[in-house]
Amino acid sequence: MKELKEYIRSIPDFPEKGIIFRDVTSVLQDADALKLSIDELAKRLEGVDFDVIAGAESRGFIFGAPLAYVMHKPFVPIRKKGKLPCETVEKTYDLEYGTATIEMHKDAVKKGEKVVLLDDLIATGGTMKAAAELVEELGGEVVKMLFLIELSDLNGREVLKDYDVDSVVQFE
Ligand code: IMP
Repeated sequence: MKELKEYIRSIPDFPEKGIIFRDVTSVLQDADALKLSIDELAKRLEGVDFDVIAGAESRGFIFGAPLAYVMHKPFVPIRKKGKLPCETVEKTYDLEYGTATIEMHKDAVKKGEKVVLLDDLIATGGTMKAAAELVEELGGEVVKMLFLIELSDLNGREVLKDYDVDSVVQFE
């Protein structure tokens, strides 16, 4: 059986010149690779004491929900601003150009709950840092940050140095 890394397609010059985009649609399109990705993520949660998985829009939903199902835990979506219908907390963070705002429902995480944060990929770590701050604002504790893919050169781990960061596949 192929390794997971072999299923991840690399697209040069997307979304702009000089960037190599790591594309997970090629993982999703292959039943073996999709299963392998969820199995590998689940392995990294073995022995971790947690209450809920929270995933970042939108690819964090694709991997987060089946992972929560396998682990028999609830799933919380962290969404881009303006999508969640109930009362929310929000966080704005810097992107390379401009800013982004993410939101969580106020009742999505209860005080003292242990939260695993999940996204498809860590680049600079900015998205996950903002997500962790939202969880903490709600009184939750981030016990792990889990990614399918880590772009090691971008040093997101430094931004997230206060957290337990883990990834399945690494690219330089
Ligand atoms: P960060 O906030 O800089 O760590 O960027 C991570 C976010 O950008 C994640 O939500 C990713 O889905 C997205 N992202 C950045 N680069 C890539 C890539 O090469 N492939 C897929 N998603 C990416």
